[in-house]
Amino acid sequence: MNYYSLYHKAPKTSFKEAVLNGIAPDKGLYFPESIRPVSKEIIENISQYSNEFIAYEVIKQFVGNEIPKEKLQEIIKETISFDFPVVDIHENITTLELFHGPTMAFKDVGAQFMAGCLEYFNRNSQQEVTVLVATSGDTGGAVACGFLNTKGVKVVILYPRGKVSEIQEKQLTTLGNNITALEVDGVFDDCQDMVKTAFIDPQIHCKLTSANSINVARWLPQMLYFFFAYKQIVHLKKEVIFSVPSGNFGNICAGIVAKKLGLPIKHFVASTNANDTVPKYLKYGNYIPKASKTTISNAMDVGNPSNFIRIQELFDNDLETIKKHVSSFSFSDNSTRKTMKDIYKKTSYITDPHGAVGYLGLKKYGLSENEIGIFLETAHPVKFLDIVEETLDVKVEIPPQIQKVIDKEKVATQISSYNELKQFLNT
Ligand SMILES: *Cc1c(COP(=O)(O)O)cnc(C)c1O
Repeated sequence: MNYYSLYHKAPKTSFKEAVLNGIAPDKGLYFPESIRPVSKEIIENISQYSNEFIAYEVIKQFVGNEIPKEKLQEIIKETISFDFPVVDIHENITTLELFHGPTMAFKDVGAQFMAGCLEYFNRNSQQEVTVLVATSGDTGGAVACGFLNTKGVKVVILYPRGKVSEIQEKQLTTLGNNITALEVDGVFDDCQDMVKTAFIDPQIHCKLTSANSINVARWLPQMLYFFFAYKQIVHLKKEVIFSVPSGNFGNICAGIVAKKLGLPIKHFVASTNANDTVPKYLKYGNYIPKASKTTISNAMDVGNPSNFIRIQELFDNDLETIKKHVSSFSFSDNSTRKTMKDIYKKTSYITDPHGAVGYLGLKKYGLSENEIGIFLETAHPVKFLDIVEETLDVKVEIPPQIQKVIDKEKVATQISSYNELKQFLNT
């Protein structure tokens, strides 16, 4: 499969090069040259097929012959080695729990898949690849865990001091081996700026790649769980509405690709917090990127969503077409907290702030009787422990995979300027 740059000023490239480069030389995002529907037979009989079979059928066209079938199946097996349950909340609202992976966030899926691909592509190379990421929380942990002990790959994670939760910090600072955490004296945007500078700095001597949803190997596998969710509710014979808590819009964009592949999804709701660039665009027709605002659903604090350009491409850059398939609503921290409380009171189900924003999106959309709503629960409530415990006045039980990292010792290198990062990368 070939990929082109959405800025159209770079040559087409293979899946391998797209994964190794992360972003095209013209700074555009890579996009697959064609998207062909999967076999109708598979979708009609989806409940008879295993997740692994479905996943291979869905992903194979995006990889082409660049990874042998057996190897790709092995990577897929690793990627989806945990459950993706759809859980009833009340009436026709359900949630797709994406937090049963090793770091309890949906980003595990993309991180595992990308690590598998990168390890394969770099298997005979003398030069190590360095995955460089800035994180405001969940990305760092998922990437650290996904790439731990991946041969030929070093991982360097930048995170803002004091701005990630204690559990998130432990997840990215305690693994050691090929993973290094750099604790930056600054905010997330400072980390992000340093990473961007490094990518265009000709004086950096190592081969750098990104592991955020800009990278096609992080982005595309996220479409798989839309299929797994559909498989679990198809017997209800209802029309399906997905609400996706969105920050950089990679997750929802993968869902839209799933629809292009033939998955019968009636409509998407892109639910956001106060960072309302996309809801405003759909309402008023002007796309105005902004600085990000801090909220309690901080993994979605993004003022200029990097993947929105891919959504535009999927709908031929036509606003009216986008609006036919996607609604987008913004919700305040107050209504998020109130919703967490309401859901808990009514059903005893604990949502994290991101999931609660997803739930609100379904409510605002207004489901009709023949529709079923599925909101994505993108992280386990324990990942946002302080907010959840304080809002609901409950004690959240710490799952074993989290307890394991809490007990380990943090190891991080402090940096406060780009020069320190550069020095670090060049030695
Ligand atoms: C990353 C993240 C999101 C946002 O996903 P995008 O693909 O960036 O839209 C939502 N919730 C949680 C918990 C996350 O970690």
